[in-house]
Amino acid sequence: MSVNFSWPIYGHQKQIKFLQNSLNSSNLANAYLFYGAKGLGKKMIAHHFAMSLFCQSQEARPCQKCQICHHVDQETWQDFYSLGKNPDDLSAENIKIFLGSLSLSSATGTPKLAIIEQVEKLNLHAANALLKVIEEPPKNTTIILIADSIDYLPATVISRCQLLKFQALDKRSMAEWLDNFSLAEIEKETVLNLSFGKPGRALSFMADNLNNFKEKCDWLFKLLDSETLSALQIIDAWFGALKKENTELKVSELGEETVQYLDLLELFWRDILWSKLERKVLNVLYQKELKELAIKYSYPDILKNLLSINKIKKQLRENVSPQVLWENLALNFKS
Ligand SMILES: [Zn+2]
Repeated sequence: MSVNFSWPIYGHQKQIKFLQNSLNSSNLANAYLFYGAKGLGKKMIAHHFAMSLFCQSQEARPCQKCQICHHVDQETWQDFYSLGKNPDDLSAENIKIFLGSLSLSSATGTPKLAIIEQVEKLNLHAANALLKVIEEPPKNTTIILIADSIDYLPATVISRCQLLKFQALDKRSMAEWLDNFSLAEIEKETVLNLSFGKPGRALSFMADNLNNFKEKCDWLFKLLDSETLSALQIIDAWFGALKKENTELKVSELGEETVQYLDLLELFWRDILWSKLERKVLNVLYQKELKELAIKYSYPDILKNLLSINKIKKQLRENVSPQVLWENLALNFKS
C-alpha cells in the first residue's frame, strides 16, 4: 500500500521524491549520506523522513499530530536515535556507545533509524567505528549521515552510503519561496541576495525579523566608519561584552563567536567595492551606508581588506587570540 506524503519543504524535489519512493517501497538503504552546504535543508528533510518512517497515519505522512510524530519530533521515540547536534558528541568513544545502542533490538517492532549530524567533523577513529557499523548494519536499521562537506570523509565511508547531494536553489525559486513571508520589498531583496540559494540561511535572517542581522550591520558600519583609535575601543568593548556573555569559554574559543561577523565583514568589503564601482550592492538594506564607506576607502585599501579576511579566518582556527586578530584588522583598515 502506498502512502501519501506531506513534506512542506521548498526545493530539492528530486531528493525528496527519491526518499519518499524508498519509504513507500520499504526499500531503505542501510546508510544515506546527505551532503551539501550548510543551510540547504538537509536536516529538515532527514527530520521529515524520520517522522514519515514511524508515523502510522493513513493520510499524508508525517501527520505531525499523532503521538509518534510528537515523540520523533522531541527525539523521545525509542527506535529513533540522533547524534551530532553538538560537535563534542562526536568523539570515537561516543560514536561507539551510540552505535552500540543501535544493535539493541527494536523497541516497537518497527525499523530503527539513526541520524548523525556534522559527520564532516568526525575524526579518523570515530569514522572507522562508523564504517564498521555501516559495513555490517544491525538488522532493520537505517542510518542517515549529514555532512556540510564530504571532502575530508574517508572514501570507505562514502562508498558504503547512498549519496544524496543537495545544492543551492536558483534565484527564481528562492524569490518565489520568499514570497510566502511578509517582508518589505527591500528586505526581501537583501535576504534573497545574501542567502545564496540556502533556505536555512534565509530563515535564520528572518527568524527575528532581521533584527540580529541589522544589529551586526550597524555595528560593522560604526566600526568601518570610525577612526582607528575609536575602532580599537569598539573592538575592546565588544570583546569585554563577549567575555561576560561566554564565561565558560577560553579567550581563544571566543573567536568562534566572531566568525559570523567576519563573514558579514567580508560581504561589507565586497559591497563597498561594488558601490565604488557603481554596481548594485547585495546588501541593499545598507546601500546608503555602503556608499558612504565607498567614499571613505580607496580601491587598494578595499582590496587589501578583502584579501585579509581569509587569512584572519584561518588564524582564528589556529588559536590565535581573536581580539588581537580583530585589532590587527582594524589597524589595517586604512593604509
Ligand atoms: Zn503522525
